[in-house]
Amino acid sequence: MPSHHRPRGFQNNYIDYQPKSLAELLRWRREAARAGLPKPPLVPTPTVAPDLAWLRLNAGAGAQMAPALTWIGHSTVMAQLGGLTMLTDPMFSERASPVQFAGPRRHVAPGIALAALPHIDLVLVSHNHYDHLDAASVTALARQPGGAPLFIVPLGLKSWFAARGIRNAVELDWWDSHRVATPRGDAELTLVPAQHWSSRGPRDALATLWGGFAVLAADCHLLFAGDTGYSRDFSDIRRHFERRQTPEQGGGFDIALLPIGAYEPRWFMSAQHVNVEEALQIHQDLGAKRSLGVHWGTFELTDESLDEPPRQLAALREARGMPEDAFFVMAIGETRTLAPRAPLVQKAGP
Ligand SMILES: [Zn+2]
Repeated sequence: MPSHHRPRGFQNNYIDYQPKSLAELLRWRREAARAGLPKPPLVPTPTVAPDLAWLRLNAGAGAQMAPALTWIGHSTVMAQLGGLTMLTDPMFSERASPVQFAGPRRHVAPGIALAALPHIDLVLVSHNHYDHLDAASVTALARQPGGAPLFIVPLGLKSWFAARGIRNAVELDWWDSHRVATPRGDAELTLVPAQHWSSRGPRDALATLWGGFAVLAADCHLLFAGDTGYSRDFSDIRRHFERRQTPEQGGGFDIALLPIGAYEPRWFMSAQHVNVEEALQIHQDLGAKRSLGVHWGTFELTDESLDEPPRQLAALREARGMPEDAFFVMAIGETRTLAPRAPLVQKAGP
């Protein structure tokens, strides 16, 4: 049995995660209420109108697609690469909750409405927490015109999709890969470890697997970390792909989507959510060329203000002399294109 498997579920590589007790949860809520946390943000999460015409053209451009990322909000990113248009953790609903009358409410509308999305080829689901696996969003995507996307999910979640009539889900264990044909050759999708947990109900903690995804396409190597605490898993991920990411082959991950929000208070959150400093460490551990900070600014889940993560990121970048471009955030609705990955070209000459 793989070392992260348990008789009934899964466990992390570097800690034995135990969900916080009700007493701890109550202590957190009591202390937060007493301190008046989270404080309201000083500035609203930035938003821009999406360039839908360009995104649709790019989605249909096949081998001519420009690698591009569009932030839809929280951990939902539309990544266009390898001729494919994919979504990470699609979450378009009003509340991250089993019910729509209670639970964390969305502060910013999705950067693109579900109905306005270009055709989605692929959906990557990192784990089953309500802010990452949203039933209404997944069901709507499965009914998109032109056919359902392929859903790639961690072990134990295929049956959740099947129960909703969604048959084209592929379930992966950590380090398992699935190949998808693209206009630019095969893309390889690998579920990679993250330090987190899973749960949708009172008695299913750690029952289904969680993780992140490495997407290796001809024009871009992308790493989506999902939700995670800080661990050595990211050095492991770098080592796992090292032979495919030599300088001659174009180097390491071109872009990493890393969570930078939902980290306070640390005594409660640190095993499951990195803070900004740890996200920067993950960026380094991975050897990523660039990182995009996600999982902030959309749902108020924890004690830090909604606008704190990007402020901390800017301060830490400055203290380390990192360019903005190396680890950036985007406005919700914004698109950034990425330089296509290029194997090292041998220089002519003696
Ligand atoms: Zn989570």
